[in-house]
Amino acid sequence: MTNPPGSQQEQLPAYILALINVGPYLSTACETAAACERATEAHQTERPWLLAHAEELHARCRLNNKFTGALCACRCHPQPPTV
Ligand SMILES: [Zn+2]
Ligand SMILES: [Zn+2]
Repeated sequence: MTNPPGSQQEQLPAYILALINVGPYLSTACETAAACERATEAHQTERPWLLAHAEELHARCRLNNKFTGALCACRCHPQPPTV
């Protein structure tokens, strides 16, 4: 794997990051996991599979945005203490 989860090799230089507006980041894995969880409401029968897939997707999260280094804001990760 050339760009493993957590890698910063593709991250933009700090002086660029200071100029751009990095919004809240949700990884595609966690975003898709959330979609699976939402779908359980409408699809009760498939609920066990949807939740199993959601769990797998959360576990595959890259944790940080590979270009900006922004941390995934998904609630499945330990949140940094709010000051
Ligand atoms: Zn997640
Ligand atoms: Zn995540």
